Amino acid sequence: MENKYFIEDFHIDVNRDTVFNMLDCFEDSPVYEEVCDAFEERKPWFYAHVRPRAVLAWEPWSKTLRQELDADADTAADRKEAAAAGRTEAADATAGQTEDDAAVGRAVDCGAETGAEADVAAGAPFAGLMYLLMTLGPEVEAESGRCFATGDYLEGMLLDAMADDYLFQMEDKVSEEMRLLCGRIGMGIQKRMEAPQDFPMAFHRRVLQVCGVASLWDMSLSSGDMFAPVKTSCVVFGLTKDVHIFRAQHDCSHCPAVNCKMRAAV
Ligand code: SF4
Repeated sequence: MENKYFIEDFHIDVNRDTVFNMLDCFEDSPVYEEVCDAFEERKPWFYAHVRPRAVLAWEPWSKTLRQELDADADTAADRKEAAAAGRTEAADATAGQTEDDAAVGRAVDCGAETGAEADVAAGAPFAGLMYLLMTLGPEVEAESGRCFATGDYLEGMLLDAMADDYLFQMEDKVSEEMRLLCGRIGMGIQKRMEAPQDFPMAFHRRVLQVCGVASLWDMSLSSGDMFAPVKTSCVVFGLTKDVHIFRAQHDCSHCPAVNCKMRAAV
């Protein structure tokens, strides 16, 4: 089974209340009517230029993943695991072959009996990882940049807020499809993770590689490992073999984004 799943048929209505909340624009704001007009005028342009696409990709757990997610934890945990499990050099070598990066990009069934089984038995945190990349394409943010550059800050902020709301809403549809996909591959979602609080920004490189959309969608990473286009969302999910668990949703109670305007929306 191919280890990637693409979703491109998004039909989302930008939520005006959410957009206005992001802009701190309310009915008693002096610019309220002006923002209402700008919002209605911009909507057709926005829908004509937004290019929503999402991909889900997954791979079995491996020592390589542990190292890339958290090098310090890897060293300590691996020593502890090796001592407890009494791993031999040969066993480690076998695991290393299974976990080789050559696995990236080819079909992998997380439910199959692979070297990942040994890692799970040895106390690996997940049966595998699933990666979600969602993007709106380059045109909306390019237009927003043009607006800011010419001093049209209202239009620029409006476009940014519309894009953020759209991107956020995309996850509702993705979540439905993800639930079905998890059923098909015999996996559940144990944990939702995002950079930088849950894993290093550098892990975005692996996500982009495994998802395989760099040239397909003209996506890249900055020197700080931020995605371009900027209106891109990246989520990593820890997989479990318990298909009844589905903890894919935002968990605002543990999120450090204290100023996130979406807190009320989830
Ligand atoms: S505060 Fe909630 S909605 Fe905002 S990013 Fe964090 S988890 Fe997501």
